[in-house]
Amino acid sequence: MLATNEPSFRESVDLMFDRAVALMDLSPGLAQKIKVCNSTYTVRFGVRLRGKIETFVGYRSVHSEHMEPVKGGIRYALGVNQDEVEALAALMTYKCALVETPFGGSKGGLCIDPRAWDEHELEQITRRFAYELIKRDLIHPAQNVPAPDMGTGEREMAWIADQYARMNTTDINAKACVTGKPPHAGGIQGRVEATGRGVQYALREFFRHPEDVAKTGLSGGLEGKRIIVQGLGNVGYHAAKFLSEEDGARIVAVIERDGAILDDAGIDIEGLRQHMNAHQGRLAGYPHGRHVAEGAAVLEAPCDILIPAALEGVIHKGNAARIQAPLILEAANGPITFGADEILRGKGCVIIPDMYANAGGVTVSYFEWVKNLSHIRFGRMQRRAEEARSRLLVEELERLSADKGLGWTLAEDFKDRFLTGSDELALVRSGLDDTMRTAYQSMREIWHSRPEAGDLRTAAYLVSIDRVAKTYRSKGL
Ligand code: GLU
Repeated sequence: MLATNEPSFRESVDLMFDRAVALMDLSPGLAQKIKVCNSTYTVRFGVRLRGKIETFVGYRSVHSEHMEPVKGGIRYALGVNQDEVEALAALMTYKCALVETPFGGSKGGLCIDPRAWDEHELEQITRRFAYELIKRDLIHPAQNVPAPDMGTGEREMAWIADQYARMNTTDINAKACVTGKPPHAGGIQGRVEATGRGVQYALREFFRHPEDVAKTGLSGGLEGKRIIVQGLGNVGYHAAKFLSEEDGARIVAVIERDGAILDDAGIDIEGLRQHMNAHQGRLAGYPHGRHVAEGAAVLEAPCDILIPAALEGVIHKGNAARIQAPLILEAANGPITFGADEILRGKGCVIIPDMYANAGGVTVSYFEWVKNLSHIRFGRMQRRAEEARSRLLVEELERLSADKGLGWTLAEDFKDRFLTGSDELALVRSGLDDTMRTAYQSMREIWHSRPEAGDLRTAAYLVSIDRVAKTYRSKGL
């Protein structure tokens, strides 16, 4: 995907880091310490499958342990390699610092095409990979807590959690060794949708600031905005679904592995996803809109907002100049190379950077980890007390109205909503919304107060690096 004259993904992340550090008063020694990846463990293991031994290669990279546990997903894809895992681990460090989840950065990956194996085989492979990482404390509730990433989900996380519990039978916090588990296996409501939900909250927050919106040449709110989404996986699907169904945005194109669907009237995301589920993940044959085979070119089509939600490096030096979107939100990690970033900055394109835009996943992972350590579901103690207090107020208002003959009646839907205490999902969404708003404010403050920072990505790096540096300093480094 990357043009050959471009730096690797890890080098690209490092160049972005260097661009920010040049604007900071940071000793070169400390900057270097923050930048480097602390360690990468490579494992090669064999699993007997279909009558023969298959060898797999996997990685777990720890970028920074300024806070522990370190956190980051495990990816299953054929393209996984050390450079990629290290780049992703570095992004986790900066992401966690930016959204104030108390973790260092890590990432893992297994070179595998998950579609090539059936469920039972995948379980054997996952348990064996987890075993290798667990015995080296590279999966551990206090030291290293993985989560889903591309090619993995709730199912794999449940296997990992179970594998850890089998190997640590007396660890009362065993469930906190991994996040993104299904709710029945210690997960939390709202984790599957979290990254897409975070994308929605990020865009809502951006559109709350007319001066920021003005920098894109757009105006107004999200209603009616034309959006192109690349990748209808877990992140792209939820983001597109929420933005179209709840904010009135129009998804005018979806790009996938086998081309793109275009429809100016707006694509029904749920309908398209169901079609893909029934057709081995393919768009082709979808009865609405127009199908084109050459998906990558659709990144360059006119729209208001472009959301790359698939792989890294999809916007590179070869296509950046032709991108027409005035606003890009990076739902994937690293979708824009350093070279493309410079070109887009030069054109005045506004980029809402990955380390902020896709931080919804790790934010809700943090809530899940806290839930596992506290051994109680969020809201369990307060929900009915909250309802009882609201009911008191409603009854008192109704009594006053009757006593004084005021004839007030509270609207039924107001009463329903006011009298419903917050359950776990409502609390998770509230915590996520607060996190996305607060983190945007911290980036924005720098973006506006330090014109030399120039863009939101550099501002995000400045905030994150400063926080990591402060933690290292307070440890005496
Ligand atoms: N894999 C996700 C990411 O890139 C989530 C990580 C996590 O929840 O730890 O942010």
